[in-house]
Amino acid sequence: MFYKELYINGEWVKSNLDEIIEIENPATRDIIGSVPKGNEVDVELAVKSAALAFDQWKGTPMESRILYMEIALNYLKAKKELLVNMEVAELGAPLKWAERAHVVGPIIRFENYIKLVKNYKFSKKLTHATIVKEPVGVVGCITPWNYPLGQIMQKVIPAILTGNTVVLKPSQIAPLSAMVLAEAFHYAKLPKGVFNLVTGRAGEVGNALAKHKLVNMISFTGSTAGGREVAKLALDSIKKVALELGGKSPLIILEGADLELAVKAGLSSCYDNTGQTCAALTRMIVPKKYLGQIETLIIDNSRNYIVGNPNDANTHIGPLASLKQYSKVRSYIQLGLDEGAKLIVGELPKSENELGNEGYYVKPTVFTNVNNQMRIAREEIFGPVICLITYETIDEAIEIANDTDYGLSGAVFGPDILANKVALAIRTGSIAVNDGKRDIDAPFGGYKQSGIGREGGLQGIEEFLEIKSIFNEVNPIINI
Ligand code: NAP
Repeated sequence: MFYKELYINGEWVKSNLDEIIEIENPATRDIIGSVPKGNEVDVELAVKSAALAFDQWKGTPMESRILYMEIALNYLKAKKELLVNMEVAELGAPLKWAERAHVVGPIIRFENYIKLVKNYKFSKKLTHATIVKEPVGVVGCITPWNYPLGQIMQKVIPAILTGNTVVLKPSQIAPLSAMVLAEAFHYAKLPKGVFNLVTGRAGEVGNALAKHKLVNMISFTGSTAGGREVAKLALDSIKKVALELGGKSPLIILEGADLELAVKAGLSSCYDNTGQTCAALTRMIVPKKYLGQIETLIIDNSRNYIVGNPNDANTHIGPLASLKQYSKVRSYIQLGLDEGAKLIVGELPKSENELGNEGYYVKPTVFTNVNNQMRIAREEIFGPVICLITYETIDEAIEIANDTDYGLSGAVFGPDILANKVALAIRTGSIAVNDGKRDIDAPFGGYKQSGIGREGGLQGIEEFLEIKSIFNEVNPIINI
C-alpha cells in the first residue's frame, strides 16, 4: 500500500518534490501505507493534461466511453479483496461494513451510472430550437475520507461518462482506494489526460485545483467549512460549483410509531461507520411522553453494538478515522456534559495523553436532556453521538427539525399519512419515512448549508453538463 507516484496524463509519475504523506491505521496506529504529497506544480501538469484531452474525449462516442468504463469496473471487481482490506486498514472500517459500504456499494453505483447514461437523452428538439447538453470541461474533484471510494465514484464516474476530463484530489487521510481506481483506468487504457490523480493536502493541491483557470467545475464533498473555502476560491474564476457538505439530520418519532423500528434505524444510522456519515440521524426528536420508553430501547439496543478490532468479523464499530477526529468527538462529548446534557449510553473518552498508543475508539454515546440550542445539537460532531430532544406538538417537532443551518437528510416514523405529511415539511434534500430504503436512482444532496447540487440518479449526471440552446429549424444529428 505504499504508492510512490501520481497519475497524470496516462502515466505514473513522481511528484516534483518527491515528498510523501504517511497513512496511519487508526486501530493500531501503525503506518500502513503512503502516497505522494503532491503540490501546485503537479496540479498544473494534471490540469493541463485534462484540458488538452477534453476536446477528443468530448467527441468520443458514448459507446466507446462506456466500454472503457466497463473494463475499469471489472478491474475494480477483481480487486475487491484488496479494496476491503484497504478500508479496514486506512479507515478502521469493520470488515463486513468495509465490504458492504466501502466496496460493494461504490461498485453498484458505478454500474448504475453506466445504466443511467445509456438511456439518457443529451438533446431535445423544441419547435424552433434544439437543447443540447454538453460536458462542462475540466472537472476538479475534491473528496473526503469517510466513504473514500464511494464519494470518488459519485462524481468521477458520471463526470467522465458525460465527456468531461477529471483531476481528482482525494482526502489525505484515506487516499489509497483512489490509487486503485487510477490503476483501473490505466488498465482500461483510458485516453491520456481523461483522468488524473494528484494526492496531497488541502492547502496545496486542493487550493491550487479550486483556483486554476483551466478548471471549469469544482465538485467538492466534505465539511461545510471546507466547501465554503473551496467555493470562494472557485468563484474567483466563475467555475461551476457543486457542494456535498455536512449535516445534523433529524429523526422524528411521531405518536403511533413503531418505536423499536425507529430506535433501531436511528442507532444504526449513527453507529455504522463509527458515526462518520454525513446523513447520520444525529438528532432524535421524540414525544415527551415516550421519552422513558425510548431511552430504555436506546440503552438496550446500543448493547448490541460491539466496539473493537475492525478485523474481527463480529465488530460493528471500529475506531474513528484519525486522532484529529477522535479529539474533536471527545471535545464534543465534554461539551455536552458541560452544557448540562445527560449521558445514558457511553462515556467521556480518554484524553489524548491517557490514550497512549491505543486506537481511536469511542463508545456509542447518547445524550438526553438536550435542547436544540445546545452546540451538541447544532454542530456536526461526526462520531457515534446521538442527541435526544423532546417535543409536545407536531408543529414543535417540525420546528426543531428545521431549526438548523443544515438540510441534508432526515427520517420520520409514525402513521403513514401523517409521517409523509411531516416529511414534506422538513427542509432536507432527502428524508426516509418508516425506514424507507434508499433508491439508487434517487438523487442525494443538501438544502441550506448542506450543499449545492445533487449526486446520484439522473440529476447526478446532469450536474456535469452545460445546457446549450441552438436556435434552428432542422434538428441536426447530435453526437455527444
Ligand atoms: P474536509 O475537511 O472538508 O475535507 C474534504 C476534502 O476537501 C479533503 O480532500 C480536504 O483535503 C479538502 N479540503 C478541505 N478544505 C479545503 C480547502 N480549504 N481548500 C481545498 N481543499 C480543501 O472534510 P472531511 O473531514 O474530509 O470529511 C467529512 C465531512 O464531509 C463531514 O462534514 C461530512 O458531513 C461531509 N460529507 C458530506 C457528504 C455529502 O454527500 N453531503 C458525503 C460525505 C462526507 P485534506 O484531506 O488534504 O484535508
